[in-house]
Amino acid sequence: MMQNFVYNAQPGRVLFGTGTSRQLPQELERLGLQSVLLLSTPQQEEQASSLAALIGSKSAGIFAGATMHTPVSVTERALEIVSEGKVDGVIAVGGGSTTGLGKAIALRTDLPQIVIPTTYAGSEMTAILGETADGRKVTQSSPKVLPEVVIYDVDLTVTLPVSLSVSSGINAIAHAVEALYARDRNPIISMIAAAGIRSLFHALPAIAQDPSSRDGRSAALYGAWLCGVCLGSVGMALHHKICHTLGGTFGLPHAETHVAVLPHALRFNETAAPEALTTLRQAVDHEDPARVLFDLARSLGAQMALKDFGMPADDVERAVDLTLENPYWNPRPLEREGLRQLVANAYEGNAP
Ligand code: NAD
Repeated sequence: MMQNFVYNAQPGRVLFGTGTSRQLPQELERLGLQSVLLLSTPQQEEQASSLAALIGSKSAGIFAGATMHTPVSVTERALEIVSEGKVDGVIAVGGGSTTGLGKAIALRTDLPQIVIPTTYAGSEMTAILGETADGRKVTQSSPKVLPEVVIYDVDLTVTLPVSLSVSSGINAIAHAVEALYARDRNPIISMIAAAGIRSLFHALPAIAQDPSSRDGRSAALYGAWLCGVCLGSVGMALHHKICHTLGGTFGLPHAETHVAVLPHALRFNETAAPEALTTLRQAVDHEDPARVLFDLARSLGAQMALKDFGMPADDVERAVDLTLENPYWNPRPLEREGLRQLVANAYEGNAP
């Protein structure tokens, strides 16, 4: 018999496919927007310019200052343009950093957002916003930051470098893996998680072989959307706690850290999550998902040892302390020795 469960559907409209960003004028029309600010990083200003040309007089300009960790100072600069230009909506084109800026603006103004994601980060599907001020990262959750419309356009993802595609894609898989054993998991999200993992798992080697592969790019973006839904819908566990500790406290790179830790976190949890393990085995067509995820990442050129990101050996013990200090719920109770072994294996880049 099925367990009782709660399922919260996220509101929002999604367009998915190739060439879908050309429907931006119609989407502005639907939302009744007259003057929108386009957001990007400096590296993606050109993509933002093409979209600005597409919407013509409805463009109030481009703010190409989005950057990692959503600094409040950057948001404030963008807000000045919002108030000067009588802006009635924002369009974010880019990865999690640009989406974060759009969310930060929406939080303060309630302006509608259209997000056009170009990585596999999945932030567009969550009500979570992490911002930094005075060197501190503060994460909050508010329905105000959920975009009104998300346009997934495969064409805009072909330029994402292979190494970033791999780390961003496996980071997305990690959301879905933890969704499968979340305390508040439910059959709908588990179905979405399995489909997301399967899609990305098969897409990433195709992208590594041919970065312009439309099939690979399409399957990866679809998988990323599904994995983003998982992140936005149920609670994350030990893997995310460790990665937030390593990223937040020790400054290790976000997506790359997820890649190195995931096989070990999964190995740690798998005996306590037999149903999740069965689903994962089917999703990756392999008896040992932890090992096959490790092999996949390594074969695609990912660095699998945290020490290669500059983490000092002493920080293994500190990471364990911090993880135990304020733990997230986890299917397997945390004990120091098992946890130390997990972090030490990721530190060395051992196979799980
Ligand atoms: P990013 O947005 O920082 O992008 C990395 C670089 O890649 C940037 O220079 C960007 O311009 C470039 N880039 C992006 N797409 C490209 C493309 N198609 N072609 C060429 N270059 C491209 O990286 P990210 O991994 O997408 O996002 C990471 C950030 O998102 C982190 O700060 C993370 O905390 C946040 N995040 C938040 C959530 C959430 O729910 N709030 C979820 C996931 C990630």
